[in-house]
Amino acid sequence: MKEKYKQQDVREALEQMYNGKCCYCENGIGAESYEHIEHLKPKALPKFHKLTYDWNNLHWCCQICNTSKGDQWDDNNPIVDPTIDDPQQLIEFDVVTGEVIARHPRGETTIKHACLNRKKLVESRNKVGEHVRELILQAKRTTSSSDKDFYKKMYN
Ligand SMILES: [Zn+2]
Repeated sequence: MKEKYKQQDVREALEQMYNGKCCYCENGIGAESYEHIEHLKPKALPKFHKLTYDWNNLHWCCQICNTSKGDQWDDNNPIVDPTIDDPQQLIEFDVVTGEVIARHPRGETTIKHACLNRKKLVESRNKVGEHVRELILQAKRTTSSSDKDFYKKMYN
């Protein structure tokens, strides 16, 4: 079978492994986009043909990230592999702008290839950021003086 990697058991295992979220943008897949099986190392490149059915090369991805990345590959600074790498070491969130920032050239590749600063993602991150800021302000307003004394002792 030509596209054996698309079988239902493979799809279900990947969806479960990634908790239904895209391996790059971490958005839930299904409500607004179709799921794609991502070949981290692009199967279209001759040097990676043999990895077409390699479990370690298959990931759960949203349609937009998968389409953005396409067959791009950078040998010197490969895209983040969330099953091996700690993405927080390579990419960080800017809580002010909602954009992601590279902490390492591999993070830069990931941001560029998966288009992780696209408008909808930045807007979505900003909504979460606004909600978190509001919760912090609310907590500050409702924290009792004994709580404040406790926090001062803890953090001073
Ligand atoms: Zn995505």
